[in-house]
Amino acid sequence: MIYHRDNPFIAHLKFRKRINGQESDKNVQHLVFDMSNSGISYKCGDSIAVLPKNSESEVAEVLQLLKIAPETQVNLPFLSEKISIFSALMEYLCITNLSDQFWKWFAGIKANPDIGLFIEDKILSSDPEGQVLAKSYSLLEILKKFDGHCKTEPNELVSKLRRLTPRLYSIASSPLVNRDEIHIVVGVVSYTNAIGNKRNGIASNYLAHGINIGEGVRVFTTNSMFALPTNAESNMIMVGPGTGIAPFRGFLQERQCIRDKGGKVGKNWLFFGDRNYASDFLFREELLTFKSTGVLTNLDLAFSRDQENKIYIQDRIWERREELWSWISNGAYVYICGNASKMAVDVENTFRRIAMELGNYSESQTNEFFKSLKNDRRYQKDVY
Ligand SMILES: Cc1cc2nc3c(=O)[nH]c(=O)nc-3n(C[C@H](O)[C@H](O)[C@H](O)COP(=O)(O)OP(=O)(O)OC[C@H]3O[C@@H](n4cnc5c(N)ncnc54)[C@H](O)[C@@H]3O)c2cc1C
Repeated sequence: MIYHRDNPFIAHLKFRKRINGQESDKNVQHLVFDMSNSGISYKCGDSIAVLPKNSESEVAEVLQLLKIAPETQVNLPFLSEKISIFSALMEYLCITNLSDQFWKWFAGIKANPDIGLFIEDKILSSDPEGQVLAKSYSLLEILKKFDGHCKTEPNELVSKLRRLTPRLYSIASSPLVNRDEIHIVVGVVSYTNAIGNKRNGIASNYLAHGINIGEGVRVFTTNSMFALPTNAESNMIMVGPGTGIAPFRGFLQERQCIRDKGGKVGKNWLFFGDRNYASDFLFREELLTFKSTGVLTNLDLAFSRDQENKIYIQDRIWERREELWSWISNGAYVYICGNASKMAVDVENTFRRIAMELGNYSESQTNEFFKSLKNDRRYQKDVY
């Protein structure tokens, strides 16, 4: 069976646990889905796509403000049958990130001239600051702003909303060890938006609080190019701070399993980091066990806020550059997973500095070197 967005597998949630300390200002959860009877086979490095649901109370409030009965039937272009507007807004449509098409339509709602003025002034204007501010409004927030003056046809409203997109999570287990399970690690997203309201990430909060153990979640898996070396005896360098640890837990489980069955595996080096050792060392016991069994040759840690001067994962990489360069020169694979905007750039720049200093490469030789590593699948990134 091939599962995809229009035909997801219903995976039951088997386990969920917060894996960082309560004192941490982040919330990271380890979840396990029961995949038995799915026929899905996955490999380490693949991702699972989750079709999230919006917050039930937010949808109820939207319908109340619009004075639309929740059971009102609507058409969605990608479904063959009508469904209630409540289900449409909960399960299929994005009510937080509204499209230009929505705003243009909403500006034309004549019941309250202020709406048109507000939107033309801010959202559709060329002033970037105004746009950022105004585009932060979710459906509920904009309806509240014009309380009671937004009469709309249910079918028209749903036709102006984007489809809710699946969210990807790196699989944090090996199929050799957990054939009928998929493990993931979720950083729960919560922030204050540009208009000063608390906003929760849709999928991460749905996974952390919106479902109970035993309930079904709509999922499908996606094949990734991010994968273990084809030769299990190749050495690996893994850089995975925060939730970036996820695929490497799977990689290490797989190599431990091969070893336990008498097979040979290459050396493994993990760089992990986060804010504080006491609260944010994810999978501490497991990683320390991998170290004591020897499957993890080196474990280097960077906890940025444990000392006055912040130490990041790229600082540890730089400190260990001579040994790292020797591993890379002898054929090791390099993997980076986690935050794309900051960490991945700093880590990549550090690897480039190492190649320039220890390989004596010029800038263009360094570019060529990384190009050839990438072509050989020896430099892989899974960043988001
Ligand atoms: C290949 C891949 C693998 C991934 N693996 C993992 C994984 O293993 N674990 C994991 O936790 N995530 C992973 N992600 C990210 C994950 O897919 C989701 O993007 C993440 O969970 C947030 O989704 P959400 O629905 O909770 O948030 P959304 O509702 O999508 O909200 C997130 C959006 O909110 C906005 N936002 C967030 N923070 C702020 C802020 N401080 N200020 C202003 N705006 C902000 C940004 O626009 C951001 O895009 C992965 C992504 C990819 C592409």
